[in-house]
Amino acid sequence: MPAFSLEPSQTARCAELRTLAAERLHPLAEKGEPGRVNRPLVAELGRLGLLERLFTSGALDLCLMRESLAYACTEAETALALQGLGAHPVHAYGTPAQRERWLPAVSDGSAVAAFALSEPGAGSDAAALSLSAVPDGPSRWRLTGEKCWISNAPEADFYTVFARTTHDAGARGVTAFLVPADRPGLSGTGLDMLSPHPIGALAFDAVPVNADDVLGEVDRGFRVAMGTLNLFRPSVGAFAVGMAQAALDATLAHTSRRDAFGGKLRDLQSVGHTVAEMALRTDAARLMVYAAATAYDEGAPDVPKRAAMAKLLATETAQYVVDSAVQLHGARALRRGHLLEHLYREVRAPRVYEGASEVQRGIIAKELYAEPATVKALEAVETMEAS
Ligand SMILES: Cc1cc2nc3c(=O)[nH]c(=O)nc-3n(C[C@H](O)[C@H](O)[C@H](O)COP(=O)(O)OP(=O)(O)OC[C@H]3O[C@@H](n4cnc5c(N)ncnc54)[C@H](O)[C@@H]3O)c2cc1C
Repeated sequence: MPAFSLEPSQTARCAELRTLAAERLHPLAEKGEPGRVNRPLVAELGRLGLLERLFTSGALDLCLMRESLAYACTEAETALALQGLGAHPVHAYGTPAQRERWLPAVSDGSAVAAFALSEPGAGSDAAALSLSAVPDGPSRWRLTGEKCWISNAPEADFYTVFARTTHDAGARGVTAFLVPADRPGLSGTGLDMLSPHPIGALAFDAVPVNADDVLGEVDRGFRVAMGTLNLFRPSVGAFAVGMAQAALDATLAHTSRRDAFGGKLRDLQSVGHTVAEMALRTDAARLMVYAAATAYDEGAPDVPKRAAMAKLLATETAQYVVDSAVQLHGARALRRGHLLEHLYREVRAPRVYEGASEVQRGIIAKELYAEPATVKALEAVETMEAS
């Protein structure tokens, strides 16, 4: 059974992280330039030892970090998560030389990582990616094509890039490469997005890579991508839960103080029912995130289904909770610079990236039909019908 309650030490650590996020990270985030990598913020995450924990602790700890940081500073949360997303393939599939070169720098915040899977013609259908790795001598390739919607691009120091090494082979013809940003032929541009963190497009013009740059095995890169997403999907849910909790707490405070109709807003039954629903859904999402992360840490067989469920429920819940919080705050929530105005912009993109909500439903359905219990039940029905 998954663990449904945290240890007192974990709860205390979450409280400590919220305080750090509010007092040390939020002031640095405020000084950042919209759409640009905030290097002082990344360096501070390194100094606080949080980035190192991306590689030394499990999925549940990752979720607790993301949830706690998101509560008080979404920019710090996302900067941490992107270091993890971009560098996890190096940590989990890299050679000793690749790990030695990049992981200490990612951990101390001096190198910025990015995960480059999506392309203009291949988003949800990532296995259709076409960035081409053309052979250029033994164990050498030239990468040509485009990536887009890549968080931290074009300012990252290295990219985990997924490229096609075998044509017409779908997911089986993809290889993951570690591409330093200063490779000749690699360029990029920033994209102005609703989402507050830096995002860009990358152009590859015969970028040279060789066997030393391969992460994992040639033609097995899709496993690198999916393995990374199985770890990170529940933690996107944790990010969403942190935002939902911040929106809920702001709403409890506001509706307790706001005068309306001779009392306070909280005295209106419909307001009470709304905050009850917000709390109910936030707690349910949190439990599902913790359960999925615990399943990952325990190596359970149903990780893809649980990870998809956690991401789906938590991101959809956070959208509902933040929207309800805006409604109960009225106009002030929509003022530029208000916490809820910020969360309203932050909460939308997680329903699209790392697999849109519809894609998560597709994964859940596929996993359900493949489960031994389902297969067995189907066989039993067929046997009964045949007799
Ligand atoms: C803020 C942000 C940051 C991102 N960061 C990164 C990053 O760091 N690295 C990276 O590689 N990518 C990143 N992405 C890209 C992201 O992963 C893709 O946007 C996502 O996979 C969806 O692809 P798409 O946008 O091309 O939409 P499409 O694939 O064109 O899908 C559009 C819509 O169609 C519907 N749809 C798609 N497939 C199905 C299906 N199977 N069943 C039912 N409906 C479906 C969904 O509603 C979906 O939203 C980022 C995106 C955003 C918005």
